[in-house]
Amino acid sequence: MTGKITLTMIKPMAVQKGFIGPILAKIAEGGFKIVAMKYTKLSLEQAEKFYEVHKERPFYGELTEFMSSGPIVAAILEKENAVQAYRDFIGATDPAKADAGTIRALYGTNLGMNAVHGSDSDENANIEGDFFFSKVERY
Ligand code: ADP
Ligand code: MG
Repeated sequence: MTGKITLTMIKPMAVQKGFIGPILAKIAEGGFKIVAMKYTKLSLEQAEKFYEVHKERPFYGELTEFMSSGPIVAAILEKENAVQAYRDFIGATDPAKADAGTIRALYGTNLGMNAVHGSDSDENANIEGDFFFSKVERY
């Protein structure tokens, strides 16, 4: 059984470059429904918590510093098979390897600053959705 939601963040560099509008337009074109959304900024502690699964990875420090360096847009997206559908839609982690036309290919800067986050499993989509949004913030 595949889930209906995934969690995305528009990362600080994409926000800084003015890509919130174009990325939200792509998300709508892709048939994803926004069920929750906020413009916010993570503290370093919040970024460390969000990416706790990557704690042992060599890029953990760089990643959490970058993700707390400026404002982001967080959103819960709904679609059938949302996690895989959105990962296919945004493209590979490295924008240089992402398929043409995907969000990361269009709006990513480099491997770390790859425009957007997308959940990697239904379980993490729910954990990440709960990280940002209460029940009364979802419609
Ligand atoms: P994805 O976001 O595609 O699920 P990962 O979960 O493996 O990728 O990594 C989380 C995030 O960490 C990536 O989106 C990227 O911003 C960053 N990242 C991944 N690998 C590296 C790396 N080798 N060097 C720097 N940053 C990285
Ligand atoms: Mg991941």
